Amino acid sequence: LLEGRDVVKSFVGPDKVRRTVVNGVSFRLDRGETLGMVGESGSGKSTLARIALSLETPDSGDVSFLGRPWSAATPAQRRAARRRISVVYQDPLSSFDPRWRVSRILTDAIELGDPVHAGRARGRAVDLLRAVGLGEEHLDAWPLRLSGGQRQRVAIARAIATNPEVIVLDEAVSALDVSVQAQILDLLADLQRQLDVSYLFISHDLGVIHHMSDRVLVMENGFAVEQGTADQIFTDPQQPYTRTLLESLP
Ligand code: ATP
Ligand code: MG
Repeated sequence: LLEGRDVVKSFVGPDKVRRTVVNGVSFRLDRGETLGMVGESGSGKSTLARIALSLETPDSGDVSFLGRPWSAATPAQRRAARRRISVVYQDPLSSFDPRWRVSRILTDAIELGDPVHAGRARGRAVDLLRAVGLGEEHLDAWPLRLSGGQRQRVAIARAIATNPEVIVLDEAVSALDVSVQAQILDLLADLQRQLDVSYLFISHDLGVIHHMSDRVLVMENGFAVEQGTADQIFTDPQQPYTRTLLESLP
């Protein structure tokens, strides 16, 4: 569904030195599964995600979505394909405009995904709110008046509003306290069962990655040091780096 091959990306830092932040990484996300990407801060997770979304162009290598490499897509094809991938960030305010009421945030996304919905968008927005554990009473709310967990639920509702094939979750629960985190993870698991959507689930938190992932990609300093099923990674890690990471788990 979403497949990266030998992706390389470097940036010139403020000190004018060029550093390779993604160094020959290959990955594969299959339909209906969750690929967890774990690694320390600065290991290149978000950069790889941005390349997967074609928000950034790799120096070499490529990512294919639905069998088509981003590099071979025309701008129109790329825009159309991007609509089939949603993103949820750590800060929900990166996913929507906080000057819009929840209803507009959702109806805007619904119409983006399916223009014929226009007239029925408000009703569908209520369905979406219910799907993420909120209610009709939140339709006219301002995002800044919601709690962090409620705001992230709105971001998730917005993400599923376009009927995406893939949702990239980049540290989507990292800013939430542990009990809200657990609720949101349960919600995501429920939605995945209902919607048959695939997740690229990025987190620096191994516990969260273990809970969510079918397969895991371990990033260290731009390299994919280990990939495998969650069982393999968590019960029989092959790489010293992965073992060190696991030892830090409580
Ligand atoms: P975190 O867990 O903190 O989110 P990450 O694994 O997502 O970290 P990235 O955001 O991918 O890490 O960043 C990897 C490295 O690339 C960092 O050193 C970062 O400073 C650098 N980097 C990312 N984007 C740019 C850019 N546009 N220009 C220059 N350097 C960048
Ligand atoms: Mg990041």
